[in-house]
Amino acid sequence: MTAREGSLEAPTRHPIDWQNPEFYNEEACFDELERIFDICHGCRRCVSLCGSFPTLFDLLDAGESGEIDGVDKKDYWKVVDQCYLCDVCYLTKCPYVPPHPWNLDFPHTMLRAKAIQFKHGSPTKFRDTTLSNTAANGKLASIPVVAQTVNALSKVKAARAIGEKVMGVHKDAWVPEFTTKVFEKNAKVSAGFPVKNGDRSKGKVAIYTTCYVNWNEPGIGHDLVKVLQHNEIPYVVVEKQACCGMPKLELGDLDSVASLAKENLPRLAALAREGYSIMTPIPSCTLMFKQEIPLMFPNDPDAQAVKAAMVDPFEYFQLRRKDGLLKTDFKEELGNVSYHISCHLRVQNVGQKTRETLEMIPGTAVNTVERCSGHAGTWGVKKEFHEMAMKIGRPVFRQMAEHPKANGGQGGDPDVIASDCQLAGHHIEQGMAGKADGKVEHPLSLLARAYGL
Ligand code: SF4
Ligand code: SF4
Repeated sequence: MTAREGSLEAPTRHPIDWQNPEFYNEEACFDELERIFDICHGCRRCVSLCGSFPTLFDLLDAGESGEIDGVDKKDYWKVVDQCYLCDVCYLTKCPYVPPHPWNLDFPHTMLRAKAIQFKHGSPTKFRDTTLSNTAANGKLASIPVVAQTVNALSKVKAARAIGEKVMGVHKDAWVPEFTTKVFEKNAKVSAGFPVKNGDRSKGKVAIYTTCYVNWNEPGIGHDLVKVLQHNEIPYVVVEKQACCGMPKLELGDLDSVASLAKENLPRLAALAREGYSIMTPIPSCTLMFKQEIPLMFPNDPDAQAVKAAMVDPFEYFQLRRKDGLLKTDFKEELGNVSYHISCHLRVQNVGQKTRETLEMIPGTAVNTVERCSGHAGTWGVKKEFHEMAMKIGRPVFRQMAEHPKANGGQGGDPDVIASDCQLAGHHIEQGMAGKADGKVEHPLSLLARAYGL
């Protein structure tokens, strides 16, 4: 039987076989990479998505035969290093993903290669591990004097140059500030509203805060709380949260992902079984619980219960709207908003719920940009990848700067820029080179502002 071109069926995902010793068999992994790279060579649809595909195609074109046998297998690592596991090639481009018989999973084969690389150890392992310890870094850097020192040093050029040399963090990359007013210690307690379940939405919410909102920008969490309160939705903040594990996954450090999941899952699963929707204000963390952890633990009932309860905040608000339970008493117009959909939200397959919500607000024109910003978690701040991260983001920077309704319809700078991923928002602000300085506002903060909260 010949395989047909493309697939009409919805993509499915195989579990990640990370506990099988064969998963770490480098030869078998390279055989699979060779098979996949050969298919990509004949397809090339993904050339504009990230650095992995151009790197692969350049290697193929420079080889003597012009085919996959002309590429030195050692160079496969160059393709792996450029992948930051955004999942976009799998979910938006590739016609050969399962159930197609070619059974092609580019990102999870990259993940397997990264897991092998992590076990071997790499020259940047210390830097990579330190950057991915987001909760530990947050706890340390939120101690008052430490926070002020770290934040001050991050603005001093000479200190950043030393940081680049010693730690491998690019001296020009945007890095977040740390707060001393940690969200989980300062979050307002929910008012005692009655639980109103809708046909599509649950009537109570558990907030998984995320490391970023907890230690870096607690204001986003407070704005989420304000929006929930305004809509009379009772909530709890999940206690004793560990990191979701995405920064560890991106390194291929799957043992650490598993340890973090072990800490988080029992608590989250108990809330799921009590009837809470669980939401996180950062799409990468949502995706971890919706997709990657359930694929790593396909037979774990806790992982599956959390997957079923996990929602993106705006996915939830739109379900509430359809249930007739979302207030629309907006008080403030937002003007011209350039809004970026992050990759880890796109691949959740929930549609453009943030855009739909912002478009409900009177006097608000949304310019939606659906393309990778290049930030990609900790990847874009690393010395060796930052320039590539800026290059990947260039079309986004351009489109965000060209709001069609600005300047009386002539087009130009927006009033505000937003991304569901706040790190991407700041990366875009940097890439817009002065056109959006100080204009980044998370969509949850925009919604709170529109309600007049
Ligand atoms: S997962 Fe993202 S970064 Fe990795 S190869 Fe696919 S598109 Fe590129
Ligand atoms: S991942 Fe799929 S769509 Fe992308 S280049 Fe390879 S075969 Fe083509």
